[in-house]
This record gives sequence, C-alpha cells and structure tokens, in this order.
Amino acid sequence: MGQSKDIQIDMISIFKDNYVPVIIYKNSSACLVDPGDSPPVHRYLSDRNLKLEVILITHHHPDHIGGVRELLELHPKARVIVPNDKDFAGHDSFSLRIFNEQLSLVCIKTPGHTLDHAVYYCGDLDSLFCGDLVFGLGCGRVFEGTMAQMFSSLEKVKKLPPTTKIYCAHEYTEHNLKFILENLDQLSLENPASFKEYQQNLHSLRHRGLPSVPLLLAQELTNNPFLSAKTLEEFTFWRKLKG
Ligand SMILES: [Zn+2]
Repeated sequence: MGQSKDIQIDMISIFKDNYVPVIIYKNSSACLVDPGDSPPVHRYLSDRNLKLEVILITHHHPDHIGGVRELLELHPKARVIVPNDKDFAGHDSFSLRIFNEQLSLVCIKTPGHTLDHAVYYCGDLDSLFCGDLVFGLGCGRVFEGTMAQMFSSLEKVKKLPPTTKIYCAHEYTEHNLKFILENLDQLSLENPASFKEYQQNLHSLRHRGLPSVPLLLAQELTNNPFLSAKTLEEFTFWRKLKG
C-alpha cells in the first residue's frame, strides 16, 4: 500500500487480472480508478467503512466502467469523472481536486488504446493511474487510435519523474516478459543488468503471490521496449510484433 501523510493507495483485485486502484483519504474517504465490477469493490469499501467520494474513469471499456452504475446506486453522492473534450478545452490536460480540494490530480489525454483514453497523474503521491496505457514491460493495444497517437501518448508518460509509481489496470507483466524473452534477439537492451534485476524482482513478487503493480517508471523506461522505443518506427515494430 502506497503511503503519504493522510493518504494511502491500495488496489482491489477484480476479474482474472484487473486491478482497481483506490486512493484512501484519512481512512474515511475513497477515490476509485476504473471500477470494472461492483460487488468486490463495494465489499472492500464497506469492510473498511469508507465513503466513496470519487470515481475516475480512464476509458470506456467494460472491464473499466462495468461497476460504475451499481456503485452509484449504493453511493449516490459519489462524483464520476469521465474526461471529455469540454474538460480539456483544447488542451492536453486539466487539473482536478478531490477530497475537499486536499489532493490535486492532473488528467492527461492519452488516445491510442481508445480515442477517449486519459490518465491521472498525482505529483503529491508521485503516482500515475494509467488504465490500459502502460503495462509492466508492455502497453495497451491500439484499438481505436493510430500508432502515432499511442506513441505520443507514451511520450507524455516518459516525461514524468522517473520515481513515478505506475498503477496500471492489469497484471500482465509476466506474460509480457515471456514475449520479450521470445524476441530478445530483436531487442538492443540498454542495460542488461537492469533487465536481469527486473526479472528477479518480478519472479520474487509473483512467487509470493504479490502484484507487480505499481510499476516504477524508471524501471519501465529502461526495460519496457514500448517505452524505450525512441522512434515511432521502433514503437510500431514492437506493437505489431506483439499483435
Ligand atoms: Zn481497455
């Protein structure tokens, strides 16, 4: 669980491999990211006596929004943030404040996986809530946007502080590692020692049944071929190879 003074970050597991990040304020209020299902999320909140204040949505896929309607019936006062063009007002990002203005987040437009995809960055928590944009050693599939859009969305993540913790929506890291190991001859690893350390750390976490999320941006910048790709061509090569 991530820590700050009054704030903790936790993740609720839903479905086979989805995570719903939850930001908890003073052990009393909660902000969810992409609740794709309601019962396990509601149970989590009621077990801890948490008031649901905010739901942040990254994109429209069912495994990210499927629980919203039911959660709103149970917590009618919760505010749902579904970023639209009006919020962005011609810009790439907009700021929002939650928990009685105590915590500030920046919502950043990141089309590619879907056209409506957006991520939430919190500088105070050194954390990024990125839905299906980045995964451990991978990135989201390009379903609705173009390769160029996805590449430029990933460029926005690369500019964040390397200490940023990335809360993505799926536990895909081991699966993505397998793909990289199968295609290692195509990859010019900048830092083989770091890649080895990444693998060891991943195995140790998963062996103990622990999530590989949050990811550390510095580690992904070095080891994730979708983030270390320097050009659109290089990115497109990896994205097409992965299928
Ligand atoms: Zn998706």
